[in-house]
Amino acid sequence: THAQRPAADPVTAAAVKAADRAHVFHSWSAQGLIDPLAVAGAEGSYFWDYEGRRYLDFTSGLVYTNIGYQHPTVVAAIQEQAGKLTTFAPAFAVEARSEAARLIAERTPGDLDRIFFTSGGAEAVEHAVRMARLHTGRPKILSAYRSYHGATGTAINVTGDPRRWASDNGTAGVVRFWAPFLYRSPFYATTEAEEAERALRHLEETIAFEGPSTVAAVVLETIPGTAGIMVPPPGYLAGVREICDRYGVVMVLDEVMTGFGRTGKWFAAEHFDVVPDLLTFAKGVNSGYVPLGGVAISDRIAATFETRAYPGGLTYSGHPLACAAAVATLQVMADENVVERAARTGAELLGPGLRALAERHPSVGEVRGTGVFWALDLVRDRATREPLVPYNASGEAAAPMAAFAAACKEGGLWPFVNMHRTHVVPPCTVSEAEVREGLEVLDAALTVADGFTV
Ligand code: PMP
Repeated sequence: THAQRPAADPVTAAAVKAADRAHVFHSWSAQGLIDPLAVAGAEGSYFWDYEGRRYLDFTSGLVYTNIGYQHPTVVAAIQEQAGKLTTFAPAFAVEARSEAARLIAERTPGDLDRIFFTSGGAEAVEHAVRMARLHTGRPKILSAYRSYHGATGTAINVTGDPRRWASDNGTAGVVRFWAPFLYRSPFYATTEAEEAERALRHLEETIAFEGPSTVAAVVLETIPGTAGIMVPPPGYLAGVREICDRYGVVMVLDEVMTGFGRTGKWFAAEHFDVVPDLLTFAKGVNSGYVPLGGVAISDRIAATFETRAYPGGLTYSGHPLACAAAVATLQVMADENVVERAARTGAELLGPGLRALAERHPSVGEVRGTGVFWALDLVRDRATREPLVPYNASGEAAAPMAAFAAACKEGGLWPFVNMHRTHVVPPCTVSEAEVREGLEVLDAALTVADGFTV
């Protein structure tokens, strides 16, 4: 029941674009070099422009519309909450907030039973870091090079990938280490077992040489997302859990991107049977319909703040509209088996479909992922694994990736292109027909990428 191709409306499109060009300052962009598409509407897995072109959204926005656009149940819940109590300050107990916290705590693994609400992912990381420092009384945070944790002060410092470079003042008490990634192994490993073992030894040595009594937390994305969807090898996260316990270090798993069904489980930590001390979330918690994020807190860390005040807060913490959207989203996810569908789509359609593309296209170096969380690592040369474009800090698409993206859009698919990768991250609710449509467009676009290989 997707909305039909809309009628063209070039007059409105021109006005929207003109005001955007004059007054909207865009993220991660050279303002004069971008030409954002004017979006007229969206539904399910699709959005469309004012020219009457419809796109299959294989980005889920920024990997957040896990139940697709404009789900009527969630839209109605937001409207109902707006009619009842649009907003109320965080120091009060409010039905939508209580209920959202209860439902989230029910789904998070282990004893992560207390929820501190934020308005997004970066704020969640800020507060997780602060909680870890206050709980341990230690200053340092260990984070992985290949990671993204948000664009605010501490979150960008905790971030490992090159987007940090321009903002890093080097004074945030962050020490970086290498997490496992067999395809481009920092440890020169050739098997997953070797990669996991060497990565764990490296982490433990990092803690030992920094001084365990100075290390508050290890922060990891459960499956690093923006930096390349790198599923950790078996045993790695369990090993990190064990090292953290041994040295009294808080284990923080950032599930802002991986939480709420994206990987085919409620949380990616379940794939590895690991329970962190703090878990950050945002995005999928309410499919991003109203800004919401948070930290799920273990009993042990919550106890630190039972009789001692937590020195931090946010005006919009647990905003009723955002929480009502979360309650409705979690209801939809249960009613429509969204998590199971994401797992099945990955195992039966996306995984096999992408691997079949890799066999035909020399530009695909590796296919990685699970659920509706996949990346194609594009290479110039499969033998050397040289990336199709060089690493750069600006994030702008170099020529081969720009050509690949243009071919996708030409075919009606909106792709998620990041450096030398394309991520394949449709909504968890994506249908079989939509997956097949997307794979067909990717097939054609990869032929363009093949033209840049050696
Ligand atoms: N952590 C992770 C793992 C993320 O993927 C992101 C956003 N892509 C963030 C944190 C930051 O979230 P936000 O943009 O909502 O601040």
